[in-house]
This record gives sequence, C-alpha cells and structure tokens, in this order.
Amino acid sequence: MMSRSGRSPERTPKKGRKVPPALPPKSIKGIDLHLHAGQERDVPMKQLVQSFVDRGISFLGLLDHSELYEMGDEALRAEHGQVVYPSSTQGLISFYREVDGMKHAFRGTASIYSGLEVGEWDILRVSRDFILDPDFVGCHMNTSCHDPNYRHYENASCGGHLARRARELLGICRPVAKPAVLFHPFHRRLQELRALIQTQGNLADEELFTKEDAATFIDGVDFEGLYVELNFGDLYTAATHPDLLKLLRRTCLTFKHLGLGFSLGSDYHKTPQQFRDPTELVESLGLGLKDFSLAYDLADQE
Ligand SMILES: [Zn+2]
Ligand SMILES: [Zn+2]
Repeated sequence: MMSRSGRSPERTPKKGRKVPPALPPKSIKGIDLHLHAGQERDVPMKQLVQSFVDRGISFLGLLDHSELYEMGDEALRAEHGQVVYPSSTQGLISFYREVDGMKHAFRGTASIYSGLEVGEWDILRVSRDFILDPDFVGCHMNTSCHDPNYRHYENASCGGHLARRARELLGICRPVAKPAVLFHPFHRRLQELRALIQTQGNLADEELFTKEDAATFIDGVDFEGLYVELNFGDLYTAATHPDLLKLLRRTCLTFKHLGLGFSLGSDYHKTPQQFRDPTELVESLGLGLKDFSLAYDLADQE
C-alpha cells in the first residue's frame, strides 16, 4: 500500500488544484449526493455524469464503497465482473482523480464532488489514506436495533446506535476536515416496519425513532459537521404506505428541529432505467431545498 502519511490534511483537498466555481444547488430534483460511480458503474464516468446532467441533475456526489478497494482485484472481479480501478489505496486515489477530472470537464454546467461510503462496521479501521482526498465521507448504516440478524453489537437502542456510529464517523472525519454523512440511517428499520404492515396490517404504536431515541442521540453527539441522508431507497420504501411516510416525516422534522443538516441521494449503482424525481415526496416530509445543507456547505468550501 502506498503511504501518504506525511501529507497534512490542510493540503489535501484544495490547494494546487484548479477548482471550478461552485454552483449552488438549483432544485431538490437537481441534487444527487449518493451516486456510485466507481467499480460498479456500467459506462465510463463522463457518460454517467452526462446522463444525469442531461436530465437536470447537476449537483452530484460521485462515490464508491471503501471495501471495493480493500478486497483485492481477484475478489473484486469475482464479485462484480470487472476491475475498473485496482483494488488498492492507489486505485481509490485514481477514482478520486477521475472525479476531479469531471469537476473540470463539467465546469459551469454541474457541481461535482467526490465521496467515500464506509461500512458502519469499518469506520474505526478504514485507512486514513482513504479519507484524505474525497470531499465528504459517509457511513453505510445497515444495523437494525430490532432484528438480531442485523445487530452488530448488543443492548443499543436506535438512538444509542445512531449516536455511536455518528461519534465514530465524526471521530475520523473531523481530523481531516470532512463532512460526515449518515447514509440511509433508517434503512433496516423501515424494512421492518413495512414487513409489520404486511403481516399485521398496521403499525400499532411503533415509531421509526422514538422520543427516547432522539434524547439519546442529542445527548450523545455534537452535530457540527454531521449530516443525515434521505436516501431514495428509504424514501420510496416509506412511500409504500401513508403510515410509514408519517413516521418518516416525524423523524425528519425531529432532526430538522435539532439543527441537523440533510443530504439527498439516489444510491444508484448503475445508470438508472428511470431517473426518479423525489421532489414531491421530499416536500411531503416537510423538507425544502435549503434543508439539504450538505450541498450548500460543499459549494461554500470551494
Ligand atoms: Zn449504503
Ligand atoms: Zn451507497
């Protein structure tokens, strides 16, 4: 592995690079800060970006899973049928460099940022060399506090779990001055609640995130630099039932009132067959364009 440990975080993102002028996000529809554009993409990166830009989606976060750069080329090819970048630190840096190339290629047309998605179980062991270059770092949240098959540790409430992961993520992001994003934080819980509706017909008095969860989360985390993602997967799962949507709305409003910033992302892993416009759904949750502060903060950083 290439070591770049002598490199200071201050030097990392901006100096020495010509960065295009930042365009703020123009609409909810125009933001997609969770687009897998590395090892799994089905077309060259430029073509992928162009297909989004052509549809008015021009505030883009291009990212990839950290583990795809740790497993080795052979395992990567076995799992995904291709090796776009070597499965190594150098390969990940090549990915970030290509995203930088897109920033320039689409200057004035689109705002493009690089990101990394780290599994929640990997936060404490991911290489520091992986997080020096991207514009933001996010945590893939998949633990359920209810389903024993998706628990990574015992005795944590949803609020306690989210607080713990947020602290871990902020612990690696703050020293390198990167925004920290909790990706799809309610993915597993929404799946459970949907299953409950399917089996018993209603949610009884279940919550997505209880008052106690909120209290635990507030007590456990300093929110500076932390963002919560509205992931298309979660949005469209919630949209399958009005009661689920109501719970997601309540949770979003709780987070908004706590002063947390939001991110928005499709989590497409390939060029989508259908480009979804989540505007109506997002607005029905009580959120507007200005709530997606990760986009504004990324634009401001430049
Ligand atoms: Zn994920
Ligand atoms: Zn993802």
